[in-house]
Amino acid sequence: NDFNNYSLSEEILEALNGLGYREPTSIQREVIRPMLEGKNVVVKAPTGSGKTAAFAIPVCESIEWEENAPQALILEPTRELAVQVSEEIFHIGRKKRLKVPALFGGFPIDKQIQTLRQKSHIVTGTPGRIMDHLRRESLRLDKIKWLVIDEADLMLDMGFIDEVKRILGLVPADCRISLFSATLKPEIQELADVFIKDTTVVLQ
Ligand code: AMP
Repeated sequence: NDFNNYSLSEEILEALNGLGYREPTSIQREVIRPMLEGKNVVVKAPTGSGKTAAFAIPVCESIEWEENAPQALILEPTRELAVQVSEEIFHIGRKKRLKVPALFGGFPIDKQIQTLRQKSHIVTGTPGRIMDHLRRESLRLDKIKWLVIDEADLMLDMGFIDEVKRILGLVPADCRISLFSATLKPEIQELADVFIKDTTVVLQ
């Protein structure tokens, strides 16, 4: 069982090889195929399971380089996670030359606005700063075809759930929505039930 089973492009396969990812982790085995088929996934999986690559591989695969507006938005609860996830996505999308800026608070917004004026394929960020860019119209969501809510239970613990809901209401109607969380406690399950339709549920 290796990554050749998913009919991924050469660019993605080469990048995975370069990262030393020889075969998918168990979470990747459950998540990559449904996401490639365009399904919405709700995934209970701990950090360390390879969940970042589980969503990054199908997202990177589907990105069209020529499009200038962002095509995927990945929400993270902290600056550290936003940076870390952006770096992993960058490595997976390296051969496709994907641009993956991370947007978080406590960093000059003008610099982020300048970055967003250039091509950005996949944006990672914390909900507050993402909302800030949306209000300033420095970030557009009209071409977004993937929204990933990562570490949803931490998002809840840190009080970001209202901003997450607001962002969920702003993505295009045909946007694929995925949620990853270490636990599916009632508030998270309810968020998934209300905002994510026709889900494939993966429990690890
Ligand atoms: P994560 O759960 O996304 O934080 O990933 C945990 C660690 O596993 C990270 O250091 C990844 O680089 C690594 N990783 C992810 N997928 C694979 C894979 N298929 N093979 C080997 N390592 C992996």
